[in-house]
Amino acid sequence: SIALQGLHKRFGRDTVALAGVDLAIEPGEFFTLLGPSGCGKTTLLRILAGLEEADRGRLQIGGRDVTEVPPHRRSVNTVFQSYALFPHLSVRDNLAFGLKMQGLAVAEREARVARIAEFIQLGDLIDRRVDQLSGGQRQRIALARALVCEPDVLLLDEPLSALDAGLRSQLQVELLRVQKRLGMTFVFVTHDQQEAMVMSDRIAVLNGGLIQQVGPPRDVYERPVNAFVARFMGHDN
Ligand code: ATP
Repeated sequence: SIALQGLHKRFGRDTVALAGVDLAIEPGEFFTLLGPSGCGKTTLLRILAGLEEADRGRLQIGGRDVTEVPPHRRSVNTVFQSYALFPHLSVRDNLAFGLKMQGLAVAEREARVARIAEFIQLGDLIDRRVDQLSGGQRQRIALARALVCEPDVLLLDEPLSALDAGLRSQLQVELLRVQKRLGMTFVFVTHDQQEAMVMSDRIAVLNGGLIQQVGPPRDVYERPVNAFVARFMGHDN
């Protein structure tokens, strides 16, 4: 589980990125942070990952306070829009890299890579070099590489936004299936309310660094608590 209380973050003197965020995310949940550009989604994700420090507030992951815990010891893995793969290595070696860093034995590494390759249906991509893959294929490898480490929590910052519509809806389905099968907690960032509606167990709608509403997509859509949420969920279309 993830628990945030009173999280504040300011950049410089005037930019308030988070203005007091309270949130509780359950284990195994597909939880989406939804909101317009600049509302604080990425900042919140970066604080969860330990890449950014909050000015104020409490942050617990798995029941322990992680404010002082460095990123690699948080049982959290991150997929950002700009996927950092090793272009000159094969997909297989890219996937195994993080496992090697975790100190897993060769047999265990191979078994994990094979399992994820099957989940994500990588097929014969597995032995290709990354620099020979398309952008969409690289995006799938980046997802696979994050999943293969089997973190308790996976943070995903607009992982599908660079893809064309067809590939995007295909990957939405794949991602959801993998998340349910592995029972991981996903914290997913998007500015696309359609995507949030399709994917999420619950969504939090953000605006101006504040959570406007939290709930199952249908509730938020059907019973928006204010004009901003109503507009953002598409009620004026
Ligand atoms: P987008 O959908 O465009 O990625 P977002 O909701 O993820 O937006 P954030 O990236 O969290 O928004 O930014 C929240 C606010 O904080 C914005 O006003 C942004 O300009 C500001 N901000 C974010 N990072 C920094 C930084 N490193 N330095 C200064 N200001 C920043």
